[in-house]
Amino acid sequence: MNNKSLIDRDLSVLWHPCTQMKDHEWLPMIPIKRGEGVWLYDFDGSRYLDAISSWWVNLFGHANPRINAGIKQQLESLEHVIVAGFTHEPIIELSERLVALTPPGLDRCFYADNGSSAIEVALKMSFHYWQNQGQKKKHKFIALSNSYHGETLGALAVGDVALYKQTYAPLLMDVITVPGPDCYFREPGETCAQYSERMFSHMEQALQQHADDVCAVIVEPLVQCAGSMRMYDPVYLKMLRNACDRFNVHFIADEIAVGFGRTGSLFACEQAGVTPDFMCLSKGLTGGYLPLSVTLTTESIYQAFYDDYEQLTAFLHSHSYTGNALACSAALATLNIFAEEDVLTSNRVLAKAMQISAAPLQDHPHVAEVRQKGMILAIEMVKEKASKTPYDWRERRGLTVYRHALENEVLLRPLGNVIYLMPPYVVTEEQIQQCLSVATQGIELATQS
Ligand SMILES: *Cc1c(COP(=O)(O)O)cnc(C)c1O
Repeated sequence: MNNKSLIDRDLSVLWHPCTQMKDHEWLPMIPIKRGEGVWLYDFDGSRYLDAISSWWVNLFGHANPRINAGIKQQLESLEHVIVAGFTHEPIIELSERLVALTPPGLDRCFYADNGSSAIEVALKMSFHYWQNQGQKKKHKFIALSNSYHGETLGALAVGDVALYKQTYAPLLMDVITVPGPDCYFREPGETCAQYSERMFSHMEQALQQHADDVCAVIVEPLVQCAGSMRMYDPVYLKMLRNACDRFNVHFIADEIAVGFGRTGSLFACEQAGVTPDFMCLSKGLTGGYLPLSVTLTTESIYQAFYDDYEQLTAFLHSHSYTGNALACSAALATLNIFAEEDVLTSNRVLAKAMQISAAPLQDHPHVAEVRQKGMILAIEMVKEKASKTPYDWRERRGLTVYRHALENEVLLRPLGNVIYLMPPYVVTEEQIQQCLSVATQGIELATQS
């Protein structure tokens, strides 16, 4: 078995996600044989440092012995069971622990099996809550510019990344999109906090105008990951919590990418000291092992659905693999690592190493910004630094960085012209230096002409 034979077989039967398949006429895909820690090994003996945590899911490395053991142990007793009318130990323990770990007031867990579905659940629950409350007018959602909440039609509708959304626009519900707090656009001399605070006026205005029709505001706390890793200040979340209360609108926090320590705190909302009405989690929830997602909400929202069956107020939403026992056991093993090791403290050391290694790039003539929140570091390549004029997307300069990195044992997967690191927490300081040295060379290559 080698790379070539597997690629040939793959290309004759598969259709890969988020991929123009024709690219594979010249861009080789990489069959992976095994993973260990931060490393992925292919069939020809090459290895790649997974600096993007396999699409932001992996927290404690591939083939982590403790998570492996947790799943193996669960496998001996129960792999899966219907979660309507039945329950199981891992899902109960996981729910108890999530309720304890998430911001106070999030006391109920509803499970699905991927991030987009968790978003659909939050949107439907919010709408349905207002229906049950007799507020029949509320049927709209407010979202931020440059946001991303997944690819299913409801989740896509509340997102704002044109590349994924535009084609399907005729299929999508109408959403109120408000200019977001993304600090990339702050004025010279303005702090990120000042800018985020200033931009809240758009949200305030939208709520003032539409609150009677609006079920909820949905945001990605602190980092808009798929939207080029753009970042903003916690003050915006504080102001949003306050405004949602004043206008009688729900606050949905999509922590699918930023949850579980990515931004420096266990959940990003903690940095603003707020509790949203709904919090969606997935990705790192199982340490990057198995598909699972959860939408947490408050007891009072739960109570609005709790009534005699004939009232037809129940939330009749389900997915076949909801609350899968193996996935829950992977999540429990992941939470055990957080409980037994001071992950957030050791991440601070790693984040510092990322900051130091990336600092020289700030002066690069084709880097507009190096930005960071905890374990997420992003470098924005531009055509012209002073005006932040972007490169033409058709030039696909990020691909040059991608290919250079692969030749040097690092898996980076730039978002257009934005190169980022979101490594597993088991990465070492030396490996971070290696990743940034490779990224820097890649940026040199990509911006040469
Ligand atoms: C990945 C992601 C989703 C969608 O999750 P899937 O499991 O890919 O459906 C939603 N919101 C955010 C912020 C994400 O990063």
